Amino acid sequence: MKGVLALLALVAAVTSLENFTGQQVLRILPANEEQVNLVWELENFEDLQLDFWQEPSKPNRFIDIRVPFFTLQDVKIYLESNNIQYSIMIHDLQSLLDEEKRDMRIGRAMENARSTDTFNYATYHTFDEINNFIDNLVAENPGLVSKIQIGRSYEGRPLNVLKFSTGANRPAFWIDTGIHSREWVTQASGIWFAKKIVTDYGRDASLTATLNKLDILLEIVTNPDGYVFSQTSNRMWRKTRSPNAGSTCIGTDPNRNWDAGFGGGGSSSNPCTETYRGRAANSESEVKAIVDYVKSHGNIKGFVSIHSYSQMLLFPYGYTTTRVRDYAELNTLSRTAVNALTSLYGTAYTYGDIYTTIYQASGGTIDWTYNQGIKYSFSFELRDTGRYGFALPANQIIPTAQETWLALTKLIEHTRDNPY
Ligand SMILES: [Zn+2]
Repeated sequence: MKGVLALLALVAAVTSLENFTGQQVLRILPANEEQVNLVWELENFEDLQLDFWQEPSKPNRFIDIRVPFFTLQDVKIYLESNNIQYSIMIHDLQSLLDEEKRDMRIGRAMENARSTDTFNYATYHTFDEINNFIDNLVAENPGLVSKIQIGRSYEGRPLNVLKFSTGANRPAFWIDTGIHSREWVTQASGIWFAKKIVTDYGRDASLTATLNKLDILLEIVTNPDGYVFSQTSNRMWRKTRSPNAGSTCIGTDPNRNWDAGFGGGGSSSNPCTETYRGRAANSESEVKAIVDYVKSHGNIKGFVSIHSYSQMLLFPYGYTTTRVRDYAELNTLSRTAVNALTSLYGTAYTYGDIYTTIYQASGGTIDWTYNQGIKYSFSFELRDTGRYGFALPANQIIPTAQETWLALTKLIEHTRDNPY
């Protein structure tokens, strides 16, 4: 009996998915600095259990907050009593997630995962399924694709990077997706990019020319512990899963943990916030693995880190208002890439440096890679602009990946054609 109970408890623990019934995502539009600060203050009330999907920054830039059902009235009263304008962006988050789960079941029932030709690119997958995809892709394309393990996550999962290469000792272009685990459309797009590269090599003249000069490196599940947790426990998990001494709160924001303006504004010292920077730069093994790999490689010429949501193409810096040396070139290249992206489905993008386009963010990935000498360092925020936010329906995976690939292609070609 004791054993049965223990087993039941274990099953409950394994299958207990956080429920978001009645939770809403509010879009807040602060009219002035005072209102921005009033919204910031909400973050200090941990009892409210708010989850900032878009952090407060400046007047007239929206802030998105996921609010649990039990504090919804308090938050709305606070906003209304301070005359702060808001609207309800998502009325019941759980109903979106129920649909997502159903889509995932149907989508995976329809595929034959033994080959990347019969894999279903239009659905979300588990970590194990993605690794299976990676192994199949490598087996199907010997001489073009290999798998490199650059390290292990905090919980011991492999950090796998796909290497697309047709010759030794080439300069490389790096792409990572999913460093924030809940941004599922990014990992799903990464899978699609991988298949696109092997499909186009030898058929598409430009991609073929690229791979005859450059290697492409692609890390699809950059935060595997967070990704697994977002599927088994809490769909809205963003950070890593490493514990924090002196706190019951888990995880560090892996996009505040890099050694570039580490500890500065736009990152938090509180382990319970979504932007907790960690105890020190590179404290997260998922970050350290990339840092070590980039340094030991020594010849990475382009670096793109992919996030969602808000439809933006960004370049350094995030930690300082100082403009990068290559500002004019990066800005022009961003415009070219965004125009290519928009040409496919009309998806509207903004672009620019992180600090002025969104907000100050310290310890970010591409500030570090840029300071490391990788001139072509960019970050995307993929679809959408907030209608679904992180719960983007699976039927948008392929269009999102297709349009993003057009922009990526511009960045890769420019890197290929402008050696430095
Ligand atoms: Zn992100």
